[in-house]
Amino acid sequence: ERTEQAMLHVSNLEKRFGGIVAVDGVSFEVERETITGLIGPNGAGKSTAFNLITGVYAPDAGSVYFRGENVTELRPHQLVDRGLVRTFQISRELAGMTVLENVLLAFDEQRGESLWRPVVPGARRAVVRQERELIDRAWEILELFELDHLAHEDAANLSGGQRKLLELCRALLTEPTLLLLDEPMAGVNPTLEKKLLARLHELREQGYTFLIVEHDMDIIMNNCETVIVMHQGQVLARGPPEAIQEDERVIDAYLGG
Ligand code: ADP
Ligand code: MG
Repeated sequence: ERTEQAMLHVSNLEKRFGGIVAVDGVSFEVERETITGLIGPNGAGKSTAFNLITGVYAPDAGSVYFRGENVTELRPHQLVDRGLVRTFQISRELAGMTVLENVLLAFDEQRGESLWRPVVPGARRAVVRQERELIDRAWEILELFELDHLAHEDAANLSGGQRKLLELCRALLTEPTLLLLDEPMAGVNPTLEKKLLARLHELREQGYTFLIVEHDMDIIMNNCETVIVMHQGQVLARGPPEAIQEDERVIDAYLGG
């Protein structure tokens, strides 16, 4: 039975690759308006869990509920329409386009349909209005992450950290409710990292929910309300950072090192 208040509820998820059970009966909830961390050693099944939740893979067993709705069978763009979005790496094709164009194109890419397609003349005015709104929104998001001064720069010229911010901008354009971020701080310098974390907290206060895979334990422990620990395809523990840091099973399997 799912709970209504959870933003995300995964139940007994299972995914095999040949003989490997990458995700082995995983159940957890992500509460609304939280930053929830998903941690665990390499190969624990974190990325596979993300791929199951976002519809990239179909699970061999188990279910995914988003805001109470069973979304297990949905494709990624159908989940984006409902507000469940993950960050994507900037693909190579998009280098050679400006930062602003990258943000705008994320709309098409994530939804699997094009707003920028040619249209019949009668529909043109409505499309222009929609384009205008989207462009305004793209600028607002770029301003929020202090990338607006780079809007007309080729995306290929951005630093690693700025690319991470751009990924987040691209996800935000689709107006998500739940964002899944796979290592958002990797390669981000300390100054940008501080800004990025501040923005995440602001967005959470505005009603966004985040599920984050991150290797940096300090970031996880200092910024997440809840931490989920995976180990060998299973959930080893779930709780507030203070409890997780003192959990002996977690220390033995992961933190002890
Ligand atoms: P994590 O993100 O926690 O490091 P992954 O979900 O990437 O873990 O991997 C979990 C396990 O599943 C690993 O043993 C990995 O080798 C395996 N695995 C992941 N993706 C695939 C795939 N596409 N094909 C085969 N094995 C995979
Ligand atoms: Mg991974």
